[in-house]
Amino acid sequence: MNIIIFGPPGAGKGTQAKYLVNKLNSFQVSTGDMLREEIKKNTSIGKNIINNMNEGKFVDDEIVNKLLENVIFDPNKMNKLIFDGYPRTIDQAENLDNLLNKSNQKIDFIFFLNVKKDSIIKRIQKRKILEKRSDDDEETILKRYDTYMDVTKPVLDFYSKKENYHEIDGSLEIDNISQKIAQILNV
Ligand code: AMP
Repeated sequence: MNIIIFGPPGAGKGTQAKYLVNKLNSFQVSTGDMLREEIKKNTSIGKNIINNMNEGKFVDDEIVNKLLENVIFDPNKMNKLIFDGYPRTIDQAENLDNLLNKSNQKIDFIFFLNVKKDSIIKRIQKRKILEKRSDDDEETILKRYDTYMDVTKPVLDFYSKKENYHEIDGSLEIDNISQKIAQILNV
């Protein structure tokens, strides 16, 4: 089963992705984590993206799409992918479609964790303290939220027409959200 989890920054995508990884014995595909790893290792990609990341801007589609390729064609991970933070643009959505077609896979479920701006800001600030993420200062939070709404909303509108799309109230407690997801997946 391949699943996409959408939601603005701080909506709990990562938390629910990890829940599903355990529950379904799957793999989390977090482009945010993959990109942070490139920065940590100081690779040429890392050097290229550090400014955008720190300013809360999106990384170029070309870079993110390339990182995705290896994951999708990994035979151990086929049909066990939990996408967290990808696709974020129409170009990425098309790329994902292409790669899945080529590898004989599809998206089985799409979840949108819908949360208002106020709750998101509170959550991200909490996470900033816990995880010490450098891109999470107040201004960046707002920028990331706005970028998400501007650029990812059209992607969401595209997926929301599909019958395997489910919107979930992301302001609920974590366990509650997981429960709702499990119910829909029938697991
Ligand atoms: P995340 O951990 O998903 O909140 O992502 C953190 C940051 O990584 C974002 O603010 C972007 O700068 C970058 N990023 C993560 N995923 C993508 C993506 N699919 N496309 C472009 N930029 C991304």
